Amino acid sequence: MAVGTALPELISPPPDWADAADVVVVGFGIAGACAAIGAAEAGARVLILERTGAAGGASALAAGHFYLGGGTPVQQATGHDDSVAAMRDYLTAVTPDPDHAKLGAYCAGSVAHFGWLEAQGLSFERSFYPGKAVVQPGTEGLMWTGNEKVAPYRESAKPAPRGHKVNAPAERGGAEIMRVLAARVRALGIRVRFETRVEHLVIDRGQVVGVAWPGGAASGAVVLAAGGFVMNPDMLAAYAARMSRHFLPLGVPTDDGLGIRLGQSAGAATAHMDGVFLTASFYPPAELLYGIIVNKAGRRFVAEDSYHGLTAGEVVAQPDSTAYLIVDSKHMVWPELPMVRFIDGWETVALMEAALGIPVGALQETVANYNVAAADEHDPELDKHPDWIRPLTEGPWGAFDLTPGTATYVGFTLGGLRTTVDGAVQRGDDSIIPGLYAAGACASTIAQDCGGYSSGTCLGEGSFFGRRAGADAARHSRRQEGD
Ligand SMILES: Cc1cc2nc3c(=O)[nH]c(=O)nc-3n(C[C@H](O)[C@H](O)[C@H](O)COP(=O)(O)OP(=O)(O)OC[C@H]3O[C@@H](n4cnc5c(N)ncnc54)[C@H](O)[C@@H]3O)c2cc1C
Repeated sequence: MAVGTALPELISPPPDWADAADVVVVGFGIAGACAAIGAAEAGARVLILERTGAAGGASALAAGHFYLGGGTPVQQATGHDDSVAAMRDYLTAVTPDPDHAKLGAYCAGSVAHFGWLEAQGLSFERSFYPGKAVVQPGTEGLMWTGNEKVAPYRESAKPAPRGHKVNAPAERGGAEIMRVLAARVRALGIRVRFETRVEHLVIDRGQVVGVAWPGGAASGAVVLAAGGFVMNPDMLAAYAARMSRHFLPLGVPTDDGLGIRLGQSAGAATAHMDGVFLTASFYPPAELLYGIIVNKAGRRFVAEDSYHGLTAGEVVAQPDSTAYLIVDSKHMVWPELPMVRFIDGWETVALMEAALGIPVGALQETVANYNVAAADEHDPELDKHPDWIRPLTEGPWGAFDLTPGTATYVGFTLGGLRTTVDGAVQRGDDSIIPGLYAAGACASTIAQDCGGYSSGTCLGEGSFFGRRAGADAARHSRRQEGD
């Protein structure tokens, strides 16, 4: 059952369990590692079951940003004021359907969680990368990774950078995170069984009491931490077709949604399954942010200084998902990432407009209006930050095609099993399925869509709520023993 939307069969307790634990964690990415450590810290005997031959999952591919704030040591050391309230207000403002219990716990617990990550052996440089980029090229511990300074969010909450990257160069953070967490799992004596693909939940009188795989079964409260579903075309078509047809899947082959389907087999509800993160970032270099983005009607629709995920979502929402980035010769530079294609350059905006098939006069009017306000560093139309406003008056003018298909968009899923703030999996009526927990990309916690996503949300929520799920699963297991 590699792909498809079919639900695995539930099975009854076998006469002989191959293995027994208090908490069984399915999957050894960041959520699974943190759930296992959280359960072990709470005194549980823990078993991790991992389908592949090594720890890692999509987590090992990640750049390594954690979205954390509220006054972390890195924020303090680099002179960035932040507060729990500002972080919560920001995340509430960018999230379409904020779960206030989860957002509140995440923001209030963020500084302590940072300390916990460091206590596991991860390190974060007390340094700041000031540039606008997707990932800092070096090892700096902090950068802006969201829309905190972008209108209208800069009005709803005091902006602060919250993208904390582990001490590893460029995109190599995820591999470092999983190396360190796997070592911590070993050091705590947590048992791991590799090459073990969990295919069924074991149910006894309405309660999840273990899992089964071909040839074996293990008893214990279960934490599903088995990743998202970006590699399952049938689930993408069923849940996220509107967006997913625009991007290439970014992840690992095991992102086939089996963890979500395991939860559904026990009656779990899902949330935000249509939510995806997608991107085809045209920056860095940041100079391209001085350009303007227009749709096929020649109209601007997104503040160009937005985080690349938000811009991507807005492009896809345009008529025929068509959009162009336009710069004048003074601000023309080549994108560093091979995601967007240069179309051509033209001596006048009128010639560009004609070549792009934009209605006569529309682009000329947009550029002219933008330039008038830009001369005073204003953008009355979209309130682009003054840092990125400059008149585009020096021809020739160039255009990059941001349209999906011509531009290469990549993405992954954000939706998953519905859970409580402690990771307990819920049914449609909000009741809890006893003995079943979920965390990471197979659960829905903070990130819901590309407009609200900030780099670092997935590792942040996977580690934070993974810990809580593991700890609560350990408590559940103790309660069962007490019965
Ligand atoms: C290129 C890239 C860069 C990214 N950069 C960032 C970033 O910097 N910051 C950020 O926050 N997010 C980032 N993300 C997203 C983030 O990496 C993922 O959302 C996150 O790592 C998911 O963690 P997880 O533990 O839920 O899943 P995974 O890390 O995928 O772990 C799931 C594990 O479960 C195993 N598994 C699956 N099914 C079963 C089964 N049935 N039985 C047993 N085991 C099973 C898998 O083999 C896998 O090892 C990035 C993603 C990609 C692809």
